[in-house]
Amino acid sequence: MSKKEKALKIIKIIYLLLIIIFLVSFVFIIRYKWGVFLAIVGFISIIVLYFVIHFIHKKIYNYTCPSCHQSFQIDIFKDITSYNVGSNAKILICPYCKTKEVMKASLKQ
Ligand SMILES: [Zn+2]
Repeated sequence: MSKKEKALKIIKIIYLLLIIIFLVSFVFIIRYKWGVFLAIVGFISIIVLYFVIHFIHKKIYNYTCPSCHQSFQIDIFKDITSYNVGSNAKILICPYCKTKEVMKASLKQ
């Protein structure tokens, strides 16, 4: 596993932890005033991390078209909106031959 992949994994773990903290903080909102602050900070951090994860993912992975074997990069918007298949594959349209297929992500060289 490369350094960048490791970094992405760590960020994803932090992201999941933040979501858990965010959900738990709702209990505190009801009981304590500072729970609102915690929830706002948590919510902003989750959104920021969400974009960071997609940005890193887009930067370190390439997709290869199974029909014309060209590899290509997708933009952050496509990375967020495209349909995920399994852990590291997406349904994408090849920019070269326009085939709509399940494409596996591979690390950039
Ligand atoms: Zn293609």
